[in-house]
Amino acid sequence: MGAGPAVEAQNIVKQFGQGAEVVRALDDVSVRIAQGEFFTLLGPSGCGKTTLLRCIAGFETPTAGRILLGGRDITGEPPNRRRVNTVFQSYALFPHLTVAQNVAFGLEMLGKSRAEVRQTTERMLALVRLDQLAGRRPDALSGGQQQRVALARALAPQPEVLLLDEPLSALDLKLRKEMQSELKRLQHETGITFVFVTHDQEEALTMSDRIGVMSAGKLLQVGTPRDIYNRPVNRFVADFIGETNFLPARAEGGVIRLASGEAVAQGPGSGPVTVAIRPEQLRLDVLAEGLLPATVEGATYLGTDSHVHLRLSDGSAVVARVPSSPAGDSAPPSGTQVGLRIAPGAVQVLEG
Ligand code: ATP
Repeated sequence: MGAGPAVEAQNIVKQFGQGAEVVRALDDVSVRIAQGEFFTLLGPSGCGKTTLLRCIAGFETPTAGRILLGGRDITGEPPNRRRVNTVFQSYALFPHLTVAQNVAFGLEMLGKSRAEVRQTTERMLALVRLDQLAGRRPDALSGGQQQRVALARALAPQPEVLLLDEPLSALDLKLRKEMQSELKRLQHETGITFVFVTHDQEEALTMSDRIGVMSAGKLLQVGTPRDIYNRPVNRFVADFIGETNFLPARAEGGVIRLASGEAVAQGPGSGPVTVAIRPEQLRLDVLAEGLLPATVEGATYLGTDSHVHLRLSDGSAVVARVPSSPAGDSAPPSGTQVGLRIAPGAVQVLEG
């Protein structure tokens, strides 16, 4: 393994098509992914996640920019020369081969000795906990088991980087949760750098060391799940990662004031800004000095908690998330006047 980050993308541009039909799938994307990191590319459909992954794998050549692996420029190298492997959403297993043969296949192609192929295959099947099913064919496996075979096969040649393109999206919710922790464990045990693509913000938050949020071919923010959730750089990131209340406000004299006049934070600048507050950062209380006056308009029961829909005196709608109580309604009835208490540090001030 070379020096430097496991993967580095430098000013990657990728255009498809010609003339008026041109699509800029990646627009000057730069990112450094550390050795052994679980890094997630997160963004809505069509934002360029898969294209970036394909540039790293070598299935696409960037229109401009460079890709480095372990500090070495590999932009012009074909996929099979890169120590990178990919796991796709469609598991792409060979239907006529057994589980063990599927895992062994790549190793045989690399010209490994029979003994080494056998040992590595056994080790990989144990790693993904499929040693009992080594002789089965893919059509006799569940979706989750097939995904494990695909993972074992991709990990077997010991790539430096494993690319995972929405590998869990075909699984039902329960299995998906199970495979999420399984993937974390595999990454931890192998120490291989994982670059994971998803459009599911919750999946990204629970699994990643760091997340890169993409929109329309641009990488908007890179940070830890906490950074991204608590300090989104702009409205798109705040909105894409979890639910957020956006409220019109003004910066003036070192204070941020809502349109209704209440000061909710300190901050520099002067002029219109947007204030973002997560629903779980708002507490309902009896209206009192220093709290934000609001009227309850309804509530949605969600099991572990409820969303309370409220209106501020300036007409803005806000949602507060309150824990459910088994004893009965945790939300006050519609029409109740309440005071909203904002948790310390919960107000994010965004431009415009
Ligand atoms: P999804 O989550 O839906 O897979 P994505 O974020 O992975 O989306 P990409 O598949 O990278 O997005 O696509 C980014 C943009 O590039 C899209 O507008 C897509 O239509 C376009 N694109 C991707 N591949 C090609 C291609 N081979 N030819 C033309 N346009 C392409």
